[in-house]
Amino acid sequence: MRTIEKYRFYRTGDVVADIGIIELYDILQEMKSTYETEGNWDITLEANCLAVEGLKPKTLYDYIIEHEIFQVFLNGIRDDLNKKGLEEVVVEKLNIGNFKEIISQSSLKEKDKEFYLDKFSKKYFPYVRNSGKYGANSGSEENFHYNFKELIDLVFKINNKNDDEQRDILKKYEPIDEKCTVCHTNIATRLDITHKDEKKERINSKYNYSFFGSEMSTFNNYGECKNSICFECEFLNLMFLLYISRKRPKVLGYTDDLYFLRYINNNLMLKKRIYEDAAFQLKLGKLKGKGIRLYDVITDSNKGVILTFQILTEYEKLIQDVELIHIADNYNYSHDKALMRDRCKQYIRYKNYEALRDTLISNILSFASEDNEEILLNIKNYQKFINILNSIQEGGGCFMKDNYFSKLGENLKKNMVSSSDEEINNNRKNIALRITNMLKADDRAGMFDFLTHLIIVNNVEMPNEYSETILNSSKNELHYCVGKFLEGFLNNKKEC
Ligand SMILES: [Zn+2]
Repeated sequence: MRTIEKYRFYRTGDVVADIGIIELYDILQEMKSTYETEGNWDITLEANCLAVEGLKPKTLYDYIIEHEIFQVFLNGIRDDLNKKGLEEVVVEKLNIGNFKEIISQSSLKEKDKEFYLDKFSKKYFPYVRNSGKYGANSGSEENFHYNFKELIDLVFKINNKNDDEQRDILKKYEPIDEKCTVCHTNIATRLDITHKDEKKERINSKYNYSFFGSEMSTFNNYGECKNSICFECEFLNLMFLLYISRKRPKVLGYTDDLYFLRYINNNLMLKKRIYEDAAFQLKLGKLKGKGIRLYDVITDSNKGVILTFQILTEYEKLIQDVELIHIADNYNYSHDKALMRDRCKQYIRYKNYEALRDTLISNILSFASEDNEEILLNIKNYQKFINILNSIQEGGGCFMKDNYFSKLGENLKKNMVSSSDEEINNNRKNIALRITNMLKADDRAGMFDFLTHLIIVNNVEMPNEYSETILNSSKNELHYCVGKFLEGFLNNKKEC
C-alpha cells in the first residue's frame, strides 16, 4: 500500500521564515486550484504549523519555476512591454509556454524582441541576483534549476525527521553538531548545495537567509557569531522573497499565530486594501491585544529586502486611518457620492486632514436627501472625525467637551416660534446652513453675532463659556461644539 507523505512546517518565531510559510501555503492553494490534483491533497494552516499531505515535491518545484518565477520575471518587464506597444491583454496572456512565440510574432521591433527573448532565458529568484545558487551568478537557468530542485528535494526529505535520519539524508553535505539558528530544529551542514563538481563550503549570507534589522533577527542577536541556517529555513526565505516580490507589501505584521499572520498580512497589511475597505475595522479592533509587531518593508537593489521595526504608535495610526475611512465610507455626500468618497480617502492616505475637514463640512447638511436621519448621521460622523483629528493633532487622551452647546441647540429648537411646522423646518435648515458656512470660513465673529441674536430673540439660556468657546477655543473644539449644537438643533426625535 502506498503511504501518503505528511509534511509539517512549524512556526519558527522569525518573521522571515514564518512569512515564508504563509506564502508557501498560498502557493499550494493556488497550485491546488490550477492543477487537476491527483489523489488526496490536503493543506491546512494552523496556529503553529502548515500541514501538507499527499504533495509531490516535484510538482511544487515545477509550479514555482513555471508560474511563480515567470510572474516575477513578467512583473519586471510588464511596464516596459506596455510602453513599447504590447497591449495589456497580450501581456496578461503571456506564460512560460507561449512567451517565445508571442514575443517573436508580436509587433515589437526586432531588437526589442531579441532583448526580451534573451531576458526570458535569465529568470531567477527575486532580490538575490548575486546568489550563486538561485540568482544570475549561478551562471545559467539550468544551474539555478539544479540547485533549487536539490533544495526542495532536501527540504521535503528532512521534513519531520529526527536528528539521525537527517544526518543520514544530509551525509553528502557533512552535517555539523549545530542546529539551525532560526528554527533550532533542523541540522546544519558544513557544505552547501552547488551545481559545480567541487565541494562548496556553506557560508551564511543574505543569499541563504535575509534579515536586516528585524526585531527577532538571530543574526543581530548573535552578532558576529557563526550562524547556521538549515535548508528548510533557506527554502522558506526564498518563499519570503516571492511573497515580497509578488504581493509588494509596504508593511508586514508579525504575530505568533500562523493562521492569523496570514490573515493580517493578506487582508490588512497590504496597505492598498486598508484604504479601500473599512469593513476590516471591527476585526482590526479585535487585534489590538494580540501583540502585533509591524515592519516597514524596503527593497534595495544592493541589500535585498530590508525590514525595519515600526514603533507601536504606527499601529495606533493605522487604526485611526481605518476609523477615518469608516467615516468617509458612511458619510452622506450631497452630490457625486463615489467621487467624494474617493477624494476623502485620498486625503486620509496623504494625511491632508484640513482638506478632509472642508469636504466633510461642505457636505454635512446633505440636501440631496430630505432624510433628517442622514443629516444627523453626518453630524455624528463629523464629531467622530473631529475627535480623531484632535487626538492626531494634540496627542491621544484629549477629550472634547460640548460646553452645553447641544442643550443650546435643543432649547433653541423648542423655543423657536413660527406659524407652521414646515416653516420651522425650513428655518432650522437655513440657520444650520448659515452656521456651517460660517464654520467653514472660520468666521467666528459672524457666528457669535448670529447665535447671540438667536439666543436673545428666542429667549433661551446662554451656555457656559459661550463667548470663549466661539471666539477663543481651538478649531477642533469649536467644530466639536458646533456639531453638538447642530445635533441638538436638528434632531426631531428628542422632542418631549
Ligand atoms: Zn532552520
